[in-house]
This record gives sequence, structure tokens and C-alpha cells, in this order.
Amino acid sequence: MKILKTNRGLQNNISKERNNKKSIGFVPTMGALHDGHMSLIQEAQQGCDVVVVSIFVNPTQFNEKSDLEKYPRPIERDTAMLKEHGVDYLFLPSTTQIYPKNLAPTPKINLGQLATTMEGEHRPGHFEGVIQVVHRLLTIVSPDQLYMGQKDFQQFTIIQAMLNQTNLKTQLRVCPIHRQDDGLAMSSRNARLSAAAKKKATAIYESLMYIKNNFMTTGRDQLIKEALEIQKSSGLDPEYIDIADGHTLQSLTDLRKAKYVVACTASWLEGIRLIDNMILRKEDEY
Ligand code: AMP
Repeated sequence: MKILKTNRGLQNNISKERNNKKSIGFVPTMGALHDGHMSLIQEAQQGCDVVVVSIFVNPTQFNEKSDLEKYPRPIERDTAMLKEHGVDYLFLPSTTQIYPKNLAPTPKINLGQLATTMEGEHRPGHFEGVIQVVHRLLTIVSPDQLYMGQKDFQQFTIIQAMLNQTNLKTQLRVCPIHRQDDGLAMSSRNARLSAAAKKKATAIYESLMYIKNNFMTTGRDQLIKEALEIQKSSGLDPEYIDIADGHTLQSLTDLRKAKYVVACTASWLEGIRLIDNMILRKEDEY
């Protein structure tokens, strides 16, 4: 695995790969890698000749300074894991490589109401930061395929909207949520939870499963009330649970009509914010 810290270094290598007609798959991450990230890498390896992984803890997408400061950065462990998984290139840029002083502004993306609900409502400025960093990384790497997780449902929806509205040639591939055996969605933030909290956090999955198992027979308000109760009785402090249209991300009142339905939640535990989601119905192609 080659480790590159500059845009030029990475681009020189990618140009050589392209000259040899290799397709490029790209997995952007913020590090503190886990099996969820590895599942994206495996899909990238199956779909492309060459896989580039970036680790960059993007300051512009954190709306709380302390969250940015406490974000885990086990770079040696991450590097070893990527080598072991046969990744071709690790891109480890500094903030000045990503955001040099003379950088042109990110194109304006019209998100309509995609960014006003759920994470957008609770994390002001977050998606502007995500669009900024993903646009910048795609400009540097210019991959054929971009691999992102369903774990961040609103994020991949917004990035698809960005790809639709810009002339970037990359295609987005969305990979399923990788969970522990007990249902807890893998997340870099889990590393900051105590052992007891990790057990409590499985109530997030249970609350989503409750919605999934009952959404054909129970109304929206009752589903959300019961799901909130499942989380609270386990010691979690839910910020929201929403049941939304998977395309528009707007709250659904009549769950029987929509063809693509997703339940999304954010919940606090030991001062750490965890997010998860579950697709309840998907009848049409995304
Ligand atoms: P992050 O390092 O948290 O920015 O995540 C990098 C990528 O990994 C994003 O596209 C996430 O959606 C994806 N990801 C994070 N957790 C999981 C998971 N448990 N399963 C699958 N993909 C994930």
C-alpha cells in the first residue's frame, strides 16, 4: 500500500493507473476504522481495479468543536488494517492540502428540503461541510466509483444530489449498514462508549426493528412513541426518530402510500451522538 500525503503525489499515481486503463474506486473516511469501513473497501475491490482510501477528519463538518477534538485518530492501527485488507493507496492529506488559501468555492448545490430535516435540522452547517469535503476529494481523486455507507442515509442522498448537479463523472455506490451481532451499527464513535453503554446502545437497533416489524399495522405517531420509549428505557436520550420518504427525506404521515420508506434516528449516550437507520420498504430502484 502506498501512503500519499499530497494531492500531487496521489494524482501522479492515479494518472499512471489510468494510463494502464485501471478503474478507480474511492472510499473517503474519517479514520478510526472498523468493519463497516472494511465492507465498503471490499465492495470497492470487487467493483474496481484500484482502491483509494482517504482518512481526513474534516473540520468543516463538525458543528461542535469538542466533537472534532475528541474524534478518535488511531492512525497506526488504521494504516495496519488498510494494508492487511490490500488497499492500494491511502491518502492522508493535511488540512492545507484539502483547503489551500486560494481554493475556489464549492459549487452551490440546490438541496431543496433534503438538508432541512433530521441531521440537517439538528446539526446546522454539517451538510455544507460534507459537500465541501466530498466535492474537494472527488476533484483531487476523480474516481470512477465512490463508495459510501447507508449508515449515513441523509449524507449519501445529499451526495447523490451533488453528483446530479455537478459535472463530476463519479458514480455513487451505497453499501449496506454493517452491524455487530447484537445489532449495534458499527461506528467510529462507538470506541468512545463504555462497555455498559455499548450494551445499552443496542436499544437503537431494537427501536428501529420495532418500527420495521409494526409499520404495516401501526400509525406513525404510535410507532415513534413506542420506539422512543424503547430507547429511553435503556438509558438513551433520543434526539429524534423520524419515518421519512427515502427519496425526499420528508416525514411521512401515511406510511402505506410511499414506495421508499426509511426510519432514521439520532440518540445520545455518555455524551456521544449515535445515528442509525433502517429501510422499511423499498419498492422502486434508487
Ligand atoms: P466515516 O469515517 O464515519 O466518515 O465513514 C466513512 C464511510 O463509511 C461513510 O460512507 C459511512 O457511511 C460508512 N460507514 C460508517 N459506518 C458504517 C457501517 N457500520 N456500515 C457501513 N458503512 C459505514
